[in-house]
Amino acid sequence: MSLELDSMYREVVLDHYKQPRGRCPLDRHDIENEGFNPVCGDEVKIGLRIEDGIILGVHSLGRGCSISVASGSMLAEILQGKTLEEARSIAEDFRRMMHGEITPDEADLGDLEALEGVQKFPVRIKCALLPWTTLLDAIEAYERGARAEKSTTEDPQLGGRPGIVHKNDERRSV
Ligand code: ZN
Repeated sequence: MSLELDSMYREVVLDHYKQPRGRCPLDRHDIENEGFNPVCGDEVKIGLRIEDGIILGVHSLGRGCSISVASGSMLAEILQGKTLEEARSIAEDFRRMMHGEITPDEADLGDLEALEGVQKFPVRIKCALLPWTTLLDAIEAYERGARAEKSTTEDPQLGGRPGIVHKNDERRSV
C-alpha cells in the first residue's frame, strides 16, 4: 500500500523511519512494555527511565512498517524531559488528532503532526498509535505498581477489528 502523504510530511516520516531515535538501550529502565499490531505485523518495545516523575531516558525499538517505526521514533524524541502526566496528555492529543477530533494546530505535537495524513488510511492509524498504546499501558501498570501486559492494537477499547494481516515488509513505501 502506498501512502500519499504531503511531500514535506513524507520527508519527516521517512527521516524518522530511516534513523529512528531512541534505539539505544538504557542503562536501566523503570517502565517497559511491548506492543504488537497484528493487522500490520508491527512490533514495538518501549522503555522509560523516570526520576522524580520526569522522563530522563526513552528507549523505543520498533519493527514493522514505516508509520509504526516513525511514530515510535517521534515518541522517543518528544517524551524526553516530560512528566508522566505530560506524556499521557501528548498521547491523548495524538490519538485525537489521528481520529480527526482535533487539528494539529490545536495541539503541540512536534514531528507527530506529520502523521496526520495517515488518518486517510484507517487501517494504518493503528500503526501510528501502536507505540502510544504501548506507552499508555506501561504507564498505567507502573502507577499500579504492576508489570505491563503486552499491548495489542486489537484491544477492544481501541476499536480494534480483525483485519488483513500483511507480511512484514520493511521496504514498504510510505
Ligand atoms: Zn504498520
